[in-house]
Amino acid sequence: MRIKSHRCIFSMSKDNEPVAKVDSGDTLVIETCDCFGDQITSEDQTIGTLDFDIVNPATGPIYIEDAEPGDILKVEILDIKIGERGVFLTGPNLGTLGHIIKEEQIKLVEIDNDRVIFNDKIHIPIEPMIGVIGTAPKGQGISTGTPGEHGGNMDCKRITKGSTLYLPINVEGALLAIGDLHAVMGDGEVAVCGVEIAGEVTVKVTVIKNLEIPLPLLIDDKRIMAIASAQTLDEASIIATENMHRLLTHIVGLEVNEAVMLLSAIGDLRICQIVDPLMTVRMELPLWVLEKYDYPAL
Ligand code: CA
Ligand code: CA
Repeated sequence: MRIKSHRCIFSMSKDNEPVAKVDSGDTLVIETCDCFGDQITSEDQTIGTLDFDIVNPATGPIYIEDAEPGDILKVEILDIKIGERGVFLTGPNLGTLGHIIKEEQIKLVEIDNDRVIFNDKIHIPIEPMIGVIGTAPKGQGISTGTPGEHGGNMDCKRITKGSTLYLPINVEGALLAIGDLHAVMGDGEVAVCGVEIAGEVTVKVTVIKNLEIPLPLLIDDKRIMAIASAQTLDEASIIATENMHRLLTHIVGLEVNEAVMLLSAIGDLRICQIVDPLMTVRMELPLWVLEKYDYPAL
């Protein structure tokens, strides 16, 4: 199944009508606009002329049969394809360095031979990733520009091809939506955007019953990561660390102090982004640690 990028939402909400229904275990291709709704086609455009009502579109939502509140949605990112041109944008009062920017600027960059042509000298290898991916939250809808326990605009650069993301299922059908691809993005996303780009994502979605793990949880070939978002980096850091600690003590079976020491020894607390309405961090632990224990196969 293929879902077109114009079938999108701007708020993750239980009230959204699904654009497709799939079974647990299905693989589907989700096409996505860039985070500006594909509005930017020229470096001469100004930020003021952009329609911010269509910023941060997420394609979906997708209803997954048999997904019940309390279950977990496993999303395997099988592939990410990106377009041929990306866009940056920055300006006064935008992002971490907005206070030193005098003039706004839109910059278009070509993708050539799997590199972002940033300037004559700097050609950046692409590392395509998903900025926005989430399910509908329990209560009120949450803007697709905001991250949270439901996922959303986490801007975690580790959500790449080959990774697997576990999200909460808060409402019947889960209502998964995906958008905001980046050709490449640094931890922090300091200018308020990565190399924003349209594209398509191939995912396999599976409903998991009767499993309690801290969410959102991400696994790639090297690491397991607890992702958390909060008003401040301090708060988000504590939640991500507590979540990984809970995984180590409740699921893997380490002692309380042992798990704390292990996290201090080889857990890496990293910033995902500091420019969205909530800050997002991740606690990373090498996967080989879990492989020493009989943790449930995720
Ligand atoms: Ca984003
Ligand atoms: Ca973005």
